[in-house]
Amino acid sequence: MRTLIIVIAVTLASCVFAQHPSYDPRYHTVAEVIEEITALADTYSAYCHLESLGHTGVDSITIWGMRISDNPTADEDETCIEFHGGQHADEPAGVEVCMWMINDLLHRIDAGDSIAVKWWEDYEIWIIPQMNCDGRIMCLDSGYTEWRKTKRDLDSSGTYDAYTDGVDPNRNWDYMWEDYTATDLDNTKGPYPFSEQCVITMRDFFIRERPLYIVDYHSPDSCGGNKLWICWWFSEGPYTGWGPDAQNNWREIRDDLAAAILDETGEPYEGAASYHTKPKLQTWTYYELEVVVS
Ligand SMILES: [Zn+2]
Repeated sequence: MRTLIIVIAVTLASCVFAQHPSYDPRYHTVAEVIEEITALADTYSAYCHLESLGHTGVDSITIWGMRISDNPTADEDETCIEFHGGQHADEPAGVEVCMWMINDLLHRIDAGDSIAVKWWEDYEIWIIPQMNCDGRIMCLDSGYTEWRKTKRDLDSSGTYDAYTDGVDPNRNWDYMWEDYTATDLDNTKGPYPFSEQCVITMRDFFIRERPLYIVDYHSPDSCGGNKLWICWWFSEGPYTGWGPDAQNNWREIRDDLAAAILDETGEPYEGAASYHTKPKLQTWTYYELEVVVS
């Protein structure tokens, strides 16, 4: 009997942490991300601190943020830069970039790398590797490989169905939410602005920390190449073209950053312009907090 219980327990545990076979096992599952950052935060507690920033809406999974800075448990008066991945559940590349950066930075600080140590001393670097954890579980663990949105039973059917359920966390912000009328199921904006817990978590974090610069990683199959987007570009109304801030300040920074990011074949990223017409993380954060998000 005892053996049977152990077998059942092991089987259940491996089900919980199993990854759907259509995904490359090199991608981290939600559980693997949490396990790895917890271990790193224990090992390198002098360099970083993990903080629970909130929870997801259905499965109540902690949305963890890692602050990498000297005096890592203190909120010091230092410039804050934030990186996050996993807003869209079926775009795992951003999560992997965040995990790679966490590992790389901590190991370089530990090895005394002069640039990494200077960043660690001078800045507060926040990395939030997975924002939409519930959606990632639907996609990576549960086999809905095209699940992009949050986990929300929109039609109250008692089940979670790909496409008809879920809210696009990148259409759930309250800037331009009323005006946004797209009806495609991939971009469902939700029952009301900030209906999604992972969106609330990010909003509250941005208000609290006011980063100087934010990077919101995506890896869609639809944007025509590797691009670095900034706000913003007016496509209609009395003004058409770049906003003055983008024109005078951020375009040049965008171009330098894009040129410095190379893809796996050595080609640089392209600079791109975001419209201001969608209720996205990027547009809200720029409009409300004047923080530029790429
Ligand atoms: Zn995306």
